[in-house]
Amino acid sequence: MELRKDPITRSWVITGDDVGEPTPRPQACRFCGPSADLTNVIATLPGVDGSAWSARSVVHPQALYHIEGEAARRGDGLYDRMGSVGAHEVLLENPRHDGHIWNASDIEVEQFLRLAAMRIQDLKRDSRFKYVSIFKNHGEAAGQEFDHPTSQLTATIFVPRRVLYELRAGREYFESKERCVFCDILAQEERQNLRIVEARGDYVAFCPYAPRVPYETWIMPRSHESSFERTGSSRVGTLTDLAALLRRTLQRIRTVTEAFHLVLHTSPNSQHPSATLGYWKTLDDDYHWHIEILPILEAKARSYTFKEIYYSPVTSETAVKRLRDAKI
Ligand SMILES: [Zn+2]
Ligand SMILES: [Zn+2]
Ligand SMILES: [Zn+2]
Repeated sequence: MELRKDPITRSWVITGDDVGEPTPRPQACRFCGPSADLTNVIATLPGVDGSAWSARSVVHPQALYHIEGEAARRGDGLYDRMGSVGAHEVLLENPRHDGHIWNASDIEVEQFLRLAAMRIQDLKRDSRFKYVSIFKNHGEAAGQEFDHPTSQLTATIFVPRRVLYELRAGREYFESKERCVFCDILAQEERQNLRIVEARGDYVAFCPYAPRVPYETWIMPRSHESSFERTGSSRVGTLTDLAALLRRTLQRIRTVTEAFHLVLHTSPNSQHPSATLGYWKTLDDDYHWHIEILPILEAKARSYTFKEIYYSPVTSETAVKRLRDAKI
């Protein structure tokens, strides 16, 4: 695999012909029970409620990025390419094969969030990595890879395009107003109360004003903080409300559709200041971590979605009514 940069949009893509044929799913789960493969475990959090462990990170069995080696950025005429250096991990959310976020206990979900924070913090110590992504694809339409409840992590030597858009927009807004655009969005949403799904402690779930897909929902902390892992590794209990809100929000979304993408947007790696990172001087003030959930409604999406312009046949104001009233 290698990374190539699109010279027009400046976004990196990962490409290669060396991807093995997808192997049929094994009958026994590779992540739990007697068939569990413990050779590639990276980190394990202690169990709660008497279980041996609660959340665990393992090397992805078909990793797209590999930790060894140099990025070795090189030119190819006007093009740029790099080796696919990085990390690709599977985060086991629960030791139980059916322990999904929406039916786990809050303390179990909290342990999973704590593991995610720990892994981001650990990988950011590696100065090669510019960004650590955490995401979950659930349901066949979302490209779910494993039966066991899992999320995935990638550490990359570039910042993913969507995050880059957010970082640039956050910085520009801050330059003109000296305020965080995410804090301002949340303040207006709470004032108007048109698109709030639920608030719990410091956390608010809401449908964004301009959704990319029907029932798109974001979860954001009210307290300004650019990095999720800083919140996640601070005092015990800070993630309890987030765990409960995440569990309840996914329960609501599952009353509409089973398949969804979930992605955590946190700050890029700013622990290793460099000339290229210099333009993120105000990062801690202008960026604000959040979780985005993008439900997949195949019937709505297939026939209407343009590749270039998002089209949501359900407004956020309509979506929020259904999610708020969901029997969970
Ligand atoms: Zn399993
Ligand atoms: Zn903020
Ligand atoms: Zn985002």
